[in-house]
Amino acid sequence: MLKIENLQANIDDKTILKGLNLQVKAGEVHAIMGPNGAGKSTLANIIAGKEEYEVTNGSIELNGEDISELAPEERAHNGVFLSFQYPVEIPGVSVTNFIKTAINETRKAKGLEDMPAKDMLKKIREKSELLEIDRKFLSRSLNEGFSGGEKKRNEIFQMAMLEPKLAILDETDSGLDIDALRIVANGVNKLKSKDNAVIVITHYQRLLEYIVPDFVHVLHDGKIVKTGDASLALELEAKGYDWIKQELV
Ligand code: ADP
Ligand code: MG
Ligand code: MG
Repeated sequence: MLKIENLQANIDDKTILKGLNLQVKAGEVHAIMGPNGAGKSTLANIIAGKEEYEVTNGSIELNGEDISELAPEERAHNGVFLSFQYPVEIPGVSVTNFIKTAINETRKAKGLEDMPAKDMLKKIREKSELLEIDRKFLSRSLNEGFSGGEKKRNEIFQMAMLEPKLAILDETDSGLDIDALRIVANGVNKLKSKDNAVIVITHYQRLLEYIVPDFVHVLHDGKIVKTGDASLALELEAKGYDWIKQELV
């Protein structure tokens, strides 16, 4: 699904990623952990195609196709979804209308007509039932006055509707409350399938009590320096990151 080789990237002439390798197969859930400033969000943003980063070396393949030259929208149309760390408020645009537009834009990019209203409604109904989202929420203005948990609910709903091949959830280090964590975890657990893959970026192990990853990677100083199974997250929680830094010297 995703194959990243020797990725090196700068921002403002500062090297952030220093030869990062990562492979994610369909059906897998990967967690990326690491100390603050390691480059986790940079990696997520680069996979999604954000333009403020300069990729100086390496390759990013999605299903065998090099996506590193594609614009963010094109990557999204190819099935890459990045959760929004700082969701914008759009007064007057409901949660439902926003996602309808997003879906139809994706279809248009592929040369398809708008999704028939009946199918769209059916899909909205199915996904909101799956995620236990009520109707009132769907008609609210996007992100306007949303609590942390509601923002997460909206993101997970968008993910459910867009059915990405590769979903990247970058959980900011700032405290997600337990309610928001459960919403994210529940959503990921319900939406994962043998055909899609999820990368969960998290500073803390807490989220991984609810989402059990197949692989846990430690990102340190612009590289993945250690990979393990879910037990690695527990070890990091207990021992912090310093022992990994020491192993590297
Ligand atoms: P993480 O998500 O692991 O905490 P980031 O990817 O956000 O790390 O940041 C990695 C490094 O890149 C940090 O040293 C940070 O200060 C720097 N950085 C990230 N974004 C920018 C930016 N827009 N301008 C300048 N430096 C940045
Ligand atoms: Mg950070
Ligand atoms: Mg970050």
